[in-house]
Amino acid sequence: MVSNLEFARFPAPDGVNGWWESLPPAGPARSVSSEHRYDWVVVGGGITGLCAARRLAELAPDASIALVEADRIGRATAGRNSGFFVDLPHDISSESYSRSVAEDKADVRFQRHGIDYVRSIVRQHNIDCDWRDEGKFHASVNKKGLDALLHFARGLTRIDEAFEWLDQAAIRKVTGTDFYQGALFTPGCSTVQPAALMRGLAATQPENVTVFELSAVTEIEHRGNEKVLHFAKGKIVAKQVILCTNAYAATFGIHPNGLLPVYTFASMTRVMNAGEVEKLGGTRSWSLIPADPMGTTVRRLATDRICVRNHFAFRPGLQVSEADLAKAKALHQRSFDRRFPMLEGVELEYTWGGPLCLSANNGALFGRRDDGILEAVGCNGLGLSRGSSSGKLIAEYALGRNSELVHQLLNQPHPRSLPVRPIVDMAVSATIWAKEMSAGAEL
Ligand SMILES: Cc1cc2nc3c(=O)[nH]c(=O)nc-3n(C[C@H](O)[C@H](O)[C@H](O)COP(=O)(O)OP(=O)(O)OC[C@H]3O[C@@H](n4cnc5c(N)ncnc54)[C@H](O)[C@@H]3O)c2cc1C
Repeated sequence: MVSNLEFARFPAPDGVNGWWESLPPAGPARSVSSEHRYDWVVVGGGITGLCAARRLAELAPDASIALVEADRIGRATAGRNSGFFVDLPHDISSESYSRSVAEDKADVRFQRHGIDYVRSIVRQHNIDCDWRDEGKFHASVNKKGLDALLHFARGLTRIDEAFEWLDQAAIRKVTGTDFYQGALFTPGCSTVQPAALMRGLAATQPENVTVFELSAVTEIEHRGNEKVLHFAKGKIVAKQVILCTNAYAATFGIHPNGLLPVYTFASMTRVMNAGEVEKLGGTRSWSLIPADPMGTTVRRLATDRICVRNHFAFRPGLQVSEADLAKAKALHQRSFDRRFPMLEGVELEYTWGGPLCLSANNGALFGRRDDGILEAVGCNGLGLSRGSSSGKLIAEYALGRNSELVHQLLNQPHPRSLPVRPIVDMAVSATIWAKEMSAGAEL
């Protein structure tokens, strides 16, 4: 007998999401409050679930589809990130380039597939989310960072990807600060206001998709050929279910699946006034990734705010504490002050955290589980592009459409299982601590 699937961890507020707060108030949410029937239910209204539900609806216009989200769409993790739709491997000092050129190119193809899909939806529906195809800067602050960028550049050359070098004066012209010693520009990254994008993707779902928010699935029961999804105030009976719950799918104890909820944190300033904007200089909007992946990501927004992201913490309970948020805010303030001494007095208005879903071997879950439920889980930090792509592709796979990309995902490694807690807690936290120490100047 197949056992029911119980959900143990649900999204928590985890600070105040500045992207969400700086949008106009959201309209009322439709929640699950009685019994419904659908052909398909997609669980999780992040980027993966939003793309999965849409693609199902595009390919099966006669099917009824429900997309269910525990929080408001745009307020949880997919609307909490730094908004980089990254086409190239992110971890620029990682060993990823020691893999074959063909594997690296396949990853880039997979990530671009997702970016192209979402870009086409944004254009088709005129979604107002500050979508920009302006690329990103990878900036270094010292010789160690420059070496990491040189390593990255060699990798890019090997896979025939374009890039451009900027010296200190050139990157200062963009950012207004002389904190960075140099940078490498890659043109293929798109950036976005993530909460606005998620809201827009939800609002423009095809007619055969019903979106439920503030509706957490507590259990999925297997009843004959159907699944019954239980909520606090109702049920949905469905023929097929697709799980797109990313970090919330992590399981520990006797059934560990190797998924690691690792939080990262961001802060956003208040809107700068005209005098502050002038003191800063640089261009109106830019997006920068640190040479060391554990360093500080910075975006200057066209709304005259600045958003910084750094710091990681392993939180298997899927919730951060006030102390975590206070620590993150202090780190963000320090990073901000080091980069922008001319902006003294520009406060960080919002600070928040959100879970990435990592694994020790960059594995992910894609396909049909033993209990018949489909899943696309495990963003490994590049969830906007990888989630878009795997959401679209899980719908295609579910409807029997095979392709080279579907084959690639079915054959990717599964997350490697880890030792039981608390050993894994100590090992992951120690690894994060060591990497953050080594990032040093890039923080
Ligand atoms: C501060 C920060 C910065 C980041 N920056 C970037 C970046 O620039 N680029 C990038 O690519 N990635 C970035 N990320 C990671 C990115 O946000 C994630 O990879 C992405 O959100 C993954 O998308 P997803 O749809 O797979 O999962 P999620 O966005 O986590 O969506 C899963 C959804 O499932 C819902 N859910 C969970 N349990 C249930 C349940 N029982 N019932 C109903 N719904 C449920 C959750 O509420 C959630 O909305 C960042 C993350 C953070 C926190």
